[in-house]
Amino acid sequence: MSVTPAPAAQRSTPAWGTGFEALVRQDPELAGLLLGEADRQATGLQLIAAENFTSPAVLAVLGSPLANKYAEGYPGARHHGGCELVDLAERIAVERARGLFGAEHANVQPHTGSSAVLAAYAALLRPGDTVLAMSLQQGGHLTHGSPANFSGRWFDFVGYGVCRDTGLIDYDQVRDLARERRPAAIVCGSMSYPRHPDYAAFREIADEAGAALIADAAHPIGLVAGGAAPSPVPYADIVCATTHKVLRGPRGGLVLCGARLAERVDRAVFPFTQGGAQMHAVAAKAVAFGEAATPAFTAYAHQVVANARALAAALASEGLVIATGGTDTHIITADVSPLALEALTARRRLAAAGIVLDTCALPHGRARGLRLGTAALTSQGMREPEMMRVATLLGAALRGEGKESGIRAEVAELAGNFPPYPPHM
Ligand SMILES: *Cc1c(COP(=O)(O)O)cnc(C)c1O
Repeated sequence: MSVTPAPAAQRSTPAWGTGFEALVRQDPELAGLLLGEADRQATGLQLIAAENFTSPAVLAVLGSPLANKYAEGYPGARHHGGCELVDLAERIAVERARGLFGAEHANVQPHTGSSAVLAAYAALLRPGDTVLAMSLQQGGHLTHGSPANFSGRWFDFVGYGVCRDTGLIDYDQVRDLARERRPAAIVCGSMSYPRHPDYAAFREIADEAGAALIADAAHPIGLVAGGAAPSPVPYADIVCATTHKVLRGPRGGLVLCGARLAERVDRAVFPFTQGGAQMHAVAAKAVAFGEAATPAFTAYAHQVVANARALAAALASEGLVIATGGTDTHIITADVSPLALEALTARRRLAAAGIVLDTCALPHGRARGLRLGTAALTSQGMREPEMMRVATLLGAALRGEGKESGIRAEVAELAGNFPPYPPHM
């Protein structure tokens, strides 16, 4: 049976394209909640480093009947019938990912970034193996050995960290630990490190120790796509990533590797750690990879970094101490203790003003700090002048100058000038 996509010319608004009106009629409670959340996102300043505003095209695919399709397996080798069109969608996603990142192989099925990391471990490691990764206190992710996560339970994690004086990764320590502990794999990548890992140095250390190198590029992969960050692809045996952070795609994961590991990675995703692929998410990834290959996205990625640098400098003027003295990425990690504030108090004051961000661990036994990112604000079209304004509002809210409601209104006004989904879209 041959199934062909409908030609674009035949398109009119499909019945399922009016889904929101159906939701309003059928379940006003949930519809109200959706509208409220969209409003919250649009009227505040979204500075959570892992978040972004995905495009209307990506949202359309996520809300499409592709969500109905069961597709266990891979294109051309599914356990279900009727996969002809979703096979095409997955092939397009894989080809676009390979092209975008110059990788020999891509697996686009991981449901999340954590599932991508799980698949990388499953492809390369056995339970009980020693793995060297950034310690959780210094910026490592849950999947890098947290006792609350499968990684900490099933593997023997050894943590490396950053230098006390510079805040930069201590490569001497990484090398010493690799020589001493002979890990089966070394993981580079973090959730709060604002600089680029030296992938060549990690590769050299891994080679000397006979270890595999896994790059967890969950955060920077979007910058890599836009040419605003060095690529781990030429250095790492496996690159794990998310598609929803700077990359601006649907919530999901991605694994890139060389042809040598392709089969092991594919089997590690399905059937080892996942069941049926989420074809609406896979197809939405294809759309996002298509967007990320455009000059507009290259400009976006560079603006994300320029905005982060401008914001870091402006926040330093507000009295925050910026880890590593600045940033090369979308991430800013800041210590608010010089303002005589606890990070949680700071986050609460900022939330009351409509400024949304995370707290994070700071290395070397210091109190927790704040983690911010510029991916979402940049998607809204904000640039350096707005970053100055954001820092001023943030500083005022942090100092709790007793006028949170006034600051909240100013935040809403600024955000209102940069709607994430303008009416013409
Ligand atoms: C975000 C992130 C992940 C995965 O996140 P999910 O929430 O599972 O999508 C993995 N590693 C790092 C370093 C991350 O920052």
